[in-house]
Amino acid sequence: MNSSKKFSRRAFIRTGALGVGALSLGSTLSALAACSAQPQKKLGIALVGLGGYAGGQLAPALQQAQYCYLAGIVTGTPSKAVEWSKKYNISQKNIYNYQNFDEIKNNPDIDIVYVVLPVALHKEFTIRAAQAGKHVICEKPMALNARDCEEMIAACKKANRMLSIGYRLHFEPHNMEVMRLGQQKVLGKITSMDNGNGFKYGGDPNAWRLKKALAGGGGLMDMGIYAIQGARYTTGMEPLKVRARQEKTNPELFKEVDETVFWELQFPGGLVTTGKSSYNNNWGYLRAKAERGSFELEPAYGYGGIAGKRSDGPLLFPQINQQQAQMDDFAQCVMNNKPTRVPGEEGLKDMRVIDAIYRSLDNSGNWETIG
Ligand code: NAD
Repeated sequence: MNSSKKFSRRAFIRTGALGVGALSLGSTLSALAACSAQPQKKLGIALVGLGGYAGGQLAPALQQAQYCYLAGIVTGTPSKAVEWSKKYNISQKNIYNYQNFDEIKNNPDIDIVYVVLPVALHKEFTIRAAQAGKHVICEKPMALNARDCEEMIAACKKANRMLSIGYRLHFEPHNMEVMRLGQQKVLGKITSMDNGNGFKYGGDPNAWRLKKALAGGGGLMDMGIYAIQGARYTTGMEPLKVRARQEKTNPELFKEVDETVFWELQFPGGLVTTGKSSYNNNWGYLRAKAERGSFELEPAYGYGGIAGKRSDGPLLFPQINQQQAQMDDFAQCVMNNKPTRVPGEEGLKDMRVIDAIYRSLDNSGNWETIG
């Protein structure tokens, strides 16, 4: 830069400063406020695994997000890469497959990797993403077992990257209200609770969800995790013991994984809650009784249409795009270096309960200690 340009730039800055000085204090403050309200740069998310949830929910939610956007994809299917790059305007340099995925470390467009694969692959891709220097969101259930969850948490800590689990209901207003009602004892202490979640599986009999090696389990891993979460976030306590039993009406279809599981969770102070999960029943509720009333949600755990009531009135809250809220929150956590409300530790706590339920099923329904 030559000296005349330097001079004119300095002159401009001075004139600008004088200009600001000439403004009234009120208008200066409002101009500054408008500046700080400017949206920050959005963080880039790469989705790993372009199946039903990534395509049906996460990609559309990312079109509405304020703090993050769909910057990249990781897929084993070349035709999906073509289709997604056209549909979402994803540049070729941000498209990876499972083999070259580690090269994502050299890509500054990608800040966050979101693992949306079958459960057995969550651990590998979470660890590879963290080692590539990316923050990670991993879908539920976090991994095949609690030990794998611990390894994932340790790997992200070691790489100094944040890890979050795709627990969208922590951002859903009705579920946030039952957290408040239960944890703050608004209607007194909870005296009993029952949670159920499941659906009638009518899909491909060869899908990964029915293979133990890929899914880790059946209805309990996939759907029961919401009912377990419901008990944990409503009471605000961690269960100490669990016992469980199961039913199988279609042993042919569910030969490798559980169909319907019933459990009781024992909490500190003596509260025992009941829960159930299924791949053969349409359930989706959360019900709590407290000392001075009761409250419930049904449907409790879906993407939308959440409804509920308390004994003294309705629960009226807006329906929101849960996935957008969840991803925007994590992006803000990354931007501001703040902890997420749904860290890997939250996924680990659920997997400790699930591991103990499977131990109880293997031990003729004995009470098993959790953790
Ligand atoms: P899906 O079967 O629709 O998609 C899985 C994707 O993984 C597919 O694109 C498939 O090609 C790919 N894949 C890569 N390797 C594979 C392998 N070895 N076997 C099978 N598929 C392989 O599954 P989904 O419903 O999108 O579920 C993915 C994850 O998201 C699961 O962990 C599931 O629990 C979770 N999920 C979460 C929610 C939620 O509300 N948070 C909802 C649905 C699914």
